[in-house]
Amino acid sequence: MENLEKAIAAVKEALPGMSLLENEPLAGHCSFRIGGPARALAAPEDMTSLSRVCSILKDHHLAPFILGNGTNLLFPDEGLQDLFLISTEKLQRLTLLPDGAVYAEAGVSLSKLASFAQQNGLAGLEFASGIPGSVGGGCFINAGAYGGEIKDVIESVVCLYLGDQGLYEMPADKCEYGYRKSWFSTHPGCVILSAVFRLQPGDKDEIAAKMREMNEKRRQKQPLELPSAGSAFKRPEGHFAGALIEQAGLKGYTVGGAQVSEKHAGFVVNVGGATSHDVYDLMMHVRNTVYRQSGVQLEPEVIILPPDYKLEDHGPALHGNRITINNMEGPQEN
Ligand SMILES: Cc1cc2nc3c(=O)[nH]c(=O)nc-3n(C[C@H](O)[C@H](O)[C@H](O)COP(=O)(O)OP(=O)(O)OC[C@H]3O[C@@H](n4cnc5c(N)ncnc54)[C@H](O)[C@@H]3O)c2cc1C
Repeated sequence: MENLEKAIAAVKEALPGMSLLENEPLAGHCSFRIGGPARALAAPEDMTSLSRVCSILKDHHLAPFILGNGTNLLFPDEGLQDLFLISTEKLQRLTLLPDGAVYAEAGVSLSKLASFAQQNGLAGLEFASGIPGSVGGGCFINAGAYGGEIKDVIESVVCLYLGDQGLYEMPADKCEYGYRKSWFSTHPGCVILSAVFRLQPGDKDEIAAKMREMNEKRRQKQPLELPSAGSAFKRPEGHFAGALIEQAGLKGYTVGGAQVSEKHAGFVVNVGGATSHDVYDLMMHVRNTVYRQSGVQLEPEVIILPPDYKLEDHGPALHGNRITINNMEGPQEN
């Protein structure tokens, strides 16, 4: 793809110090440990460089695919040869704002965010302490567990809109959060750069105890010892995906190296050498069998990327507040 090659050359020239991996196996960048090579995977040091990369891509009529911690993704075995990926792993600023809210950049892990809140005597993020994703990924999908969701604690999200390369501050009520979805997931075309979380004062020990309890439940019930991308399917209304799969007799069902977990039927695990085709075929078999047996249509929660996955170079117009470039690096340390 000629445009992509030109864009890679332009990015290298403009940002010579930035980490830019070429033909990088994606299996090393996701929790499933599956996926062929990405043509280009950049990890900008800060939001300014990230925005610079996006602007160069736009000049070449391309849009990046944003990679958080890779814990909700199934990459194709063939790799992603036509995409430029940007990882948020280096966007790691995390700070307490003077008004008591917590500011976190997109690459901060949800577990680090939850620990930071606990250490500052702030309650509300306990549910997130065992979710292995990033702030960006969590805000994108409205991650949740044990009765809590990102939407309950988010105050605002700052994103870069690829359409006009502007920065926008989206108040929580404009993010259209629902079960495992948001405005960002339904209208691709934004890079989430940072978020502000509004929490409640709480007792540090009680918060820590709640986090330990939830994480212990996870260890007991979930196959954390094997690579996976968490729950393979969304929770259908009025049901639990895991229970439906188990009732369909599919616990332990295996295709190649992919298996319906013996420990928790809602998880698909990589028991060794699974390909994305194995996972995909297994998920389709599960979906069809459950539908035949219960009439319930399961919808994947894992985001499945085909090898020819493409993004438009911008999404529809935003309805947040445009903010100035001076806000780009977020609040100063206090
Ligand atoms: C063992 C295990 C347990 C899990 N438990 C839970 C759970 O309890 N609850 C739950 O909700 N999820 C759970 N998950 C799934 C996963 O951790 C969440 O969906 C998480 O929010 C994904 O974040 P991520 O950073 O890994 O995103 P990625 O997997 O990297 O990306 C997911 C999507 O978000 C987009 N994205 C990521 N960052 C940005 C950004 N900065 N800007 C724009 N788009 C972005 C990506 O483009 C992609 O479309 C679990 C996963 C595993 C492996």
